[in-house]
Amino acid sequence: MMPFHRTCKEVTALVIAREDRMLSWRDRLAVRMHMTICAACPTFERQILTLHNAMKQWRNYEKSNGADDQWRRES
Ligand SMILES: [Zn+2]
Repeated sequence: MMPFHRTCKEVTALVIAREDRMLSWRDRLAVRMHMTICAACPTFERQILTLHNAMKQWRNYEKSNGADDQWRRES
């Protein structure tokens, strides 16, 4: 078995975990290598990234509607 081989199931789990924590370089490399040989996982990753960006925008929206002036000054 190749050292960086991951199944689709493992890769999707890593892509989700990456939202919460830093992956080790081994995991990051394994994910990247898997993305080059897999058709399904890059699509899944894009969806996660889209969702992630939407969440970020939503959080900023929440902040900008609060009395958080510091956020306005920083941005
Ligand atoms: Zn895959």
